[in-house]
Amino acid sequence: MISMIDKICKEEVTVYGYANMKNMTPNPDINSQFNKYPHAISIGINIPDEIIDTIDILEIEEKYLQTYIKINSKLNEIGTKIESILHEHKYMAKFIDASSIVSKDKLKGDISHKLVANLAGLGWIGKSCLLINPYYGPRIRWATIITDAPLPYAKKQVPSRCGTCRLCSVNCPSHAIKNIEFNEENSRETRYDAYACNDYFNKLEAQNRPRLCGLCIKVCPWGLVNKKSRKKRNLI
Ligand code: SF4
Ligand code: SF4
Repeated sequence: MISMIDKICKEEVTVYGYANMKNMTPNPDINSQFNKYPHAISIGINIPDEIIDTIDILEIEEKYLQTYIKINSKLNEIGTKIESILHEHKYMAKFIDASSIVSKDKLKGDISHKLVANLAGLGWIGKSCLLINPYYGPRIRWATIITDAPLPYAKKQVPSRCGTCRLCSVNCPSHAIKNIEFNEENSRETRYDAYACNDYFNKLEAQNRPRLCGLCIKVCPWGLVNKKSRKKRNLI
């Protein structure tokens, strides 16, 4: 079963990994109803550099939106495929898609895909609250499959390499990012004001523009370091 999942992930996503959810410190960002799923598979597809690098150009906003929709749909396709494999092998499994926001008052999903990717050893949670992969930076969309199947989960997490950088914080038009390092015991609110970011999106919408920003993705230096050497794979 693991080899089937590995094959799908190697062929169809940019990065993936297995997480032991039991390693998660009780965290206010995780819905406790998921405690019965001790493991998770984190899958990510990179957002093309040509989209991220031109994110703030008004004329291509629609292209950015369409790319997000395509990536989300591809993650949905792969996530449900993996969920079915786990079910066929008689394990509990639940796919949680990239864009679901179930708690409109807190602007949070059922689970933090970024925390799961962090537990899967795929990167650290940056000051921007995005998952920073050492190779792709924050230029990845994530989804998660939670399960009770035994998985070869990562033994180590990647420590933060944000250091003294504060580029996401100083470039955020809504001042949502508070320039505070991630600490798993604190809630997201201590580092990031989701309402401020959402208000900014509301302003864009009022101007008939897509509800997208992504400057915190564009400016992160970890998204730039390997840009030239990154292999282009046509996943979407
Ligand atoms: S998406 Fe834009 S407004 Fe929201 S946190 Fe990132 S930079 Fe700030
Ligand atoms: S921009 Fe700098 S501070 Fe923000 S997440 Fe990236 S490395 Fe960390």
